[in-house]
Amino acid sequence: MISIKSGREIDTMARAGRIVFDTLELMRTLVRPGLSTEDLDREAEAFIRSHPGATPSFKGLYDFPKTLCTSIDEEIVHGIPSPKRVLHEGSIVSVDVGVCVDGLHADSATTIPVGRVAPDVQRLLDVTERSLYAGIAAARSGNHVGDIGNAVQRVAEGAGFGVVRELVGHGIGTRFHEEPQIPNFGVPKRGPQLKRGMTLAIEPMITIGSPATRTLTDKWTVVTQDGSLSAHFEHTVVVTEGEARILTK
Ligand code: MG
Ligand code: MG
Repeated sequence: MISIKSGREIDTMARAGRIVFDTLELMRTLVRPGLSTEDLDREAEAFIRSHPGATPSFKGLYDFPKTLCTSIDEEIVHGIPSPKRVLHEGSIVSVDVGVCVDGLHADSATTIPVGRVAPDVQRLLDVTERSLYAGIAAARSGNHVGDIGNAVQRVAEGAGFGVVRELVGHGIGTRFHEEPQIPNFGVPKRGPQLKRGMTLAIEPMITIGSPATRTLTDKWTVVTQDGSLSAHFEHTVVVTEGEARILTK
């Protein structure tokens, strides 16, 4: 069952989404060579908790220990912040964060360049973000989940990049992960039909090389098998009759 949110629930998710957006904006101002991912996590948690009633969604979710997922370079998602992981000039760091307000969640991610990055790396970021917006444009009432994945896939693969298959977007609301699963590939008009009031986290994970993945021995961090760079952009949106409304912007 894919839940349909009430206007009041959507308003609450938009409040959570605003904090998510502001947290990622703060991360963007902080990211620089020499900073550790633990530093980012500490700042993010303090910022989120400075809003009355707001809590980090990830902390304790499936026993994840931190507020952020911070994934550097060939790490795709679910990197665990650590004082040992220091950012270096020319790297990229994907920052993923969720916030809960009054029992409702919002979820967003962005990949941030550390200092100056090579042109092909910047292109990976640009194409991944563009693929997210193509997916969002397809998330309208009457379309299907397959339309979203197909739109993401066309942009990413059209640019010569890989689309990660094992990890997907998701419905979101009172639970952080709800139905439906939203792959970043697919066939138009296939999968569950989208209806007004559905809230979805759309999140392309795109690689410069092969999209094949493996999970590190920390049991969390997912990396590319070939060591190629990966980017991750995500927004939480609500389906309407027209353009989806982005709740994390
Ligand atoms: Mg996320
Ligand atoms: Mg998500």
